Amino acid sequence: MKIAVVGTGYVGLVTGTCFAETGNHVTCIDIDVKKVEKLKNKIMPIYEPGLDVLFERNIKQGRLDFTTNLKEGIKGAKIIFLALPTPPGEDGSADLRYILGVAEELGPLLEQYTVIVDKSTVPVGTADRVTAKIAEHAKVEFSVVSNPEFLREGVAVDDFMKPDRVVIGTRSEKAKKIMEELYAPLVRQGNPIITMDEKSAELTKYAANSFLATKITFMNEIANMCELVGADVDMVRKGVGTDSRIGKRFLFAGIGYGGSCFPKDVQALAKSAREVNYNFEILNAVMSKNETQKTKLIDRLKEHYGDNLKGKTFAIWGLAFKPYTDDIREAPALINIKILLEAGVKIKTYDPEAMENVKEQFGDSIEFCKDEYDAAEGADALLIMTEWPVFRTPEFDRLKSSLKDNVIFDGRNLYNTETMAENGFTYYSIGRATVK
Ligand code: NAD
Repeated sequence: MKIAVVGTGYVGLVTGTCFAETGNHVTCIDIDVKKVEKLKNKIMPIYEPGLDVLFERNIKQGRLDFTTNLKEGIKGAKIIFLALPTPPGEDGSADLRYILGVAEELGPLLEQYTVIVDKSTVPVGTADRVTAKIAEHAKVEFSVVSNPEFLREGVAVDDFMKPDRVVIGTRSEKAKKIMEELYAPLVRQGNPIITMDEKSAELTKYAANSFLATKITFMNEIANMCELVGADVDMVRKGVGTDSRIGKRFLFAGIGYGGSCFPKDVQALAKSAREVNYNFEILNAVMSKNETQKTKLIDRLKEHYGDNLKGKTFAIWGLAFKPYTDDIREAPALINIKILLEAGVKIKTYDPEAMENVKEQFGDSIEFCKDEYDAAEGADALLIMTEWPVFRTPEFDRLKSSLKDNVIFDGRNLYNTETMAENGFTYYSIGRATVK
């Protein structure tokens, strides 16, 4: 099948590459000239484990190519995916300017029946709006389908190739058949393709992300309670996670969720609710609690050092919003760095993949180090922001000789408290007793 993917970011590039891998011919289109130049030269513009191998193979075999030209890129395509940004607008709603802009351009360019797929996360009613935009100038029949994406950055290829489920929102039998044919190779193990109307599909994505954000936030609230009553959140997590109704995942306490999806999607769902005069109160609480949680380590630092942090040097391990990605959008590390710099703190940092992206924002106001030990060298204390596996089993003796104060502020609960006590650290974590 000939497919076009408009928008070649984290979702578009994974979508395009994976559908090429299942034998389709895919053209990825992006307006970012530099990005397309890189892609044409077989340079991967993002870090996503496993994607590079598929990317190279499919380019080599002539199934995957790139262009900045929409008209050229969609020529002959049976399906056109829209994997465009839907950033939060000023009022919190998803900004549909990219989606509707491309929809408008597409109308006159369509030459035969085409399925246009909203892959982006978009509010309820967007499929109707995209349909109306395309219809303004279209001369041929087309269907707009909502097909939200559930991949997680860091394991995106696996998530895409073996999805828990595929959600297809369409009332068109013709479009449904084409989409099922496309996805068939990915659901051979029997995971379902769930077909529904467009609005339900659109809401499914927001419901999933908001539920997960709520689950994380709920556990962070339990962690805060643990600190006040002397309980251990890791024990509580195990105690509740073994209940099959609750499940073990998304129960780790920490310094809040970030990333390009949860914050904006929770905000957008709350805004959509307000638009229909519904006060989705729980989402407001999730958003405000998550903001507070993000700076929890700052409170801890002040508890330890007092309010004046000026002149201190802190090592920060981890910048990405989660491990195995270079994505720093809404990463808790960033807000902490900003606060610390304003307080006159010197920062030395290391992240295995995200340093280039942070450099673009902070320049040389922070020191980027060659590894985690280099970052710790000469620092007063260590702050852990992202749970990269490489940080999980450090050489504690080496760390002790590098840090001036032997204090660790762990925003991701990487170590068990007994180990830290045995190694002579002062150790602050989330929802557990402080080791002093
Ligand atoms: P991204 O910012 O990484 O990529 C978007 C791409 O679209 C960019 O390369 C940009 O240059 C390009 N673009 C912008 N305007 C364009 C135009 N007019 N024509 C062609 N290209 C254009 O975004 P992303 O993370 O891939 O997210 C895309 C959508 O998917 C969003 O709605 C997001 O919420 C959703 N989503 C993201 C994830 C994720 O983990 N990143 C997961 C599921 C769903």
